[in-house]
Amino acid sequence: MGNPQVPIDVDAETGIWRTDGLPMVYLPRHFLVNNHIAVEEALGRDAYRAILRVATEKSAIHWCRAEMRTHGFTAEATFRHYFKRLSQRGWGQFSVDLLDTAGRTGAITLRHSIFVLEASRRASTGQVCGDGPFCYMFEGFITGAFRFFLELGETKAAVACAEVRCAGDLGHSDCAFAFSA
Ligand SMILES: [Zn+2]
Repeated sequence: MGNPQVPIDVDAETGIWRTDGLPMVYLPRHFLVNNHIAVEEALGRDAYRAILRVATEKSAIHWCRAEMRTHGFTAEATFRHYFKRLSQRGWGQFSVDLLDTAGRTGAITLRHSIFVLEASRRASTGQVCGDGPFCYMFEGFITGAFRFFLELGETKAAVACAEVRCAGDLGHSDCAFAFSA
């Protein structure tokens, strides 16, 4: 077992956790995923997926802007740092396999996704999980980070992203995301 690879500062008075100056919340994985599944069941996957896309994209852009200021990174270093930090914070192990600036496209793989791990935990207790892809929440993370990257050089970028392979489906050992603008 290792220690966290992210710096964590805890305010002695308020109890607020911060990493690189941004307030953070530390919570159980099952709590996060149970909430996620409850909303998916209430709204339907397609409607929820679209809402999540907008919200997570906005948050990713906010995070990237703040981290770029904090560290003085380039846009590409910030993009890569984002997925490194997500990996260090326990969402899963992200790998940026392709970031083609000229072609405005890229590919990311993900191992040990929290959504896949929780689906197998639920399945092992006899709960119905349905079929993947389970990790569509990350699509907005990726469109946000790529929009941040592109919009340093242009006013507005429309980025598409889809989880094209999910380890939650039979026959796959990891998840894969393709994105383009
Ligand atoms: Zn997946």
